Amino acid sequence: MIDLNNEYDFNKIIPKKIIKATYKALNNYQYRTLFKYKDQILNYGKYNKDELNFILDSIIEGETARKYLLEELKSTEPLLLEEILNKFNFSDENIIRDLIFLTEQGFLEKIIDKSTGDQKYRVKEERFSLQKNIFDTISVVHEKNTCCHCGLCTSICPLDGIDLTNDYVYIDGGKCIRCGLCYSVCPQSFTFKTELDYLKKRNYDLKYYKNIGFYKNMYSARTYIHKIRDYIQDGGVVSSLIYYMLKNQLVDAVITIKHSIDFWKPEVAIIQDIKKLKNTAGTIYTHTPLLSVLKKTKNLKNVAIVALPCKIKALIKGSLFPVRLPFFNNIKYKIGLFCWESLSYEKMLEFIHKNFDVDLDEIVNMNIKKGKFIITLDSGDVFSIPLNEWYKYGYNFCNYCDDFTAEFADLSIGGIGSQMGWSTVITRNNNGEELFNKVLDAELIESRELKEGSSKLSLIEKIAEKKIKNSKSI
Ligand SMILES: Cc1cc2nc3c(=O)[nH]c(=O)nc-3n(C[C@H](O)[C@H](O)[C@H](O)COP(=O)(O)OP(=O)(O)OC[C@H]3O[C@@H](n4cnc5c(N)ncnc54)[C@H](O)[C@@H]3O)c2cc1C
Repeated sequence: MIDLNNEYDFNKIIPKKIIKATYKALNNYQYRTLFKYKDQILNYGKYNKDELNFILDSIIEGETARKYLLEELKSTEPLLLEEILNKFNFSDENIIRDLIFLTEQGFLEKIIDKSTGDQKYRVKEERFSLQKNIFDTISVVHEKNTCCHCGLCTSICPLDGIDLTNDYVYIDGGKCIRCGLCYSVCPQSFTFKTELDYLKKRNYDLKYYKNIGFYKNMYSARTYIHKIRDYIQDGGVVSSLIYYMLKNQLVDAVITIKHSIDFWKPEVAIIQDIKKLKNTAGTIYTHTPLLSVLKKTKNLKNVAIVALPCKIKALIKGSLFPVRLPFFNNIKYKIGLFCWESLSYEKMLEFIHKNFDVDLDEIVNMNIKKGKFIITLDSGDVFSIPLNEWYKYGYNFCNYCDDFTAEFADLSIGGIGSQMGWSTVITRNNNGEELFNKVLDAELIESRELKEGSSKLSLIEKIAEKKIKNSKSI
């Protein structure tokens, strides 16, 4: 697992340089804003004094490192990422994080070296450098209609000034202090994939599969837990992982979704009891701002999350963000679901009525297989329609997503690539691989390895490639 919560080691740097950088860091806009509204934030009570101080300290620490890096880079020729990582004593994770933020803030720019074609980092002219220094609020993302409604901004906002539902986001001008925390963690505000991929390639012992990304191993697997078989979507691997994690107290809770009174309308669930698994098993193709519950789980020691790729990306962005937040330290496992797109509940109603002429509550199962969207009714009747029809109803934000297989998760799980009744599992790092093996050893699942070059893998790769090609840039 990439450790993005590393602290900086300033010990090897000349003290004079660090003092100068710290002095400049105190001018950081986010720091000054949060400091200015400290009393208001504490009175509101979402963050206590220790948490707020923790946030402020980490802003200064991260900003000091960035000011130091910037000063050093000013006196060099444009450098390759590799050269920058070799030049500085900070961890690679921290340097990469800082380069991403310095670039987004407008202090650095990426240029292509004409002679080699390599990408290099160059300090921008001073007169341009303040342009994007102040992060804007999340409304920019919403105005562009690219918000993926992950809910992370509502979790992080110190004064709960963001009201987010499945379909809209409202920023309360009376509460917003324009600290920009929301914009910094937003998965749709700016990208970071190239740099993180570079890090995975450089430092982690991982294989790479074109368009599917970095991984440890790939499997087809299915559950042995009979009690849940009637409720699961594919091979029931996700439910088996949840069962194992809760039963063996690897985590205190799992954040995912469950059916609500309107059966196909998802509701965020924080499950702590394995008896509740029947309520969560199976796929609901509609969307909910899952990460808005993070504020409720911050006092738990260890948490796992089952989520769509866009939400997993948001979690990575949140931990990449150079502020150590109380929310992220307890997320032990990230389980990502494959996803081409999701729908709002209203669009789902429209899609079903127009294409099948049945009521939503007659449907007991929905699935995507072999290029078709399939529904099973409680009468036992099965109907299907080509996926192209379903694609017309997706959210706009799905058009900006290039991640079919949840590349940033610890484990990515989907149906495609495996035969009916089995799930495809991609372990992305040691954390994911170890969890998968524990569940296998506990004989809760059976598995077969998915071999490189197999036709099943090519199928996943083809869809992932199509998603990348179709995606617009944010
Ligand atoms: C919107 C969406 C689109 C998908 N598209 C594809 C696709 O194109 N191709 C493909 O191969 N697979 C897709 N999947 C994944 C697939 O449907 C299964 O969820 C996956 O194979 C796991 O099956 P399982 O039997 O192991 O899971 P189960 O044991 O049945 O458990 C499923 C878990 O997923 C959680 N879950 C269900 N719906 C949601 C949701 N909307 N948001 C967050 N968590 C949820 C449940 O809470 C449960 O914990 C999609 C899933 C979703 C939610």
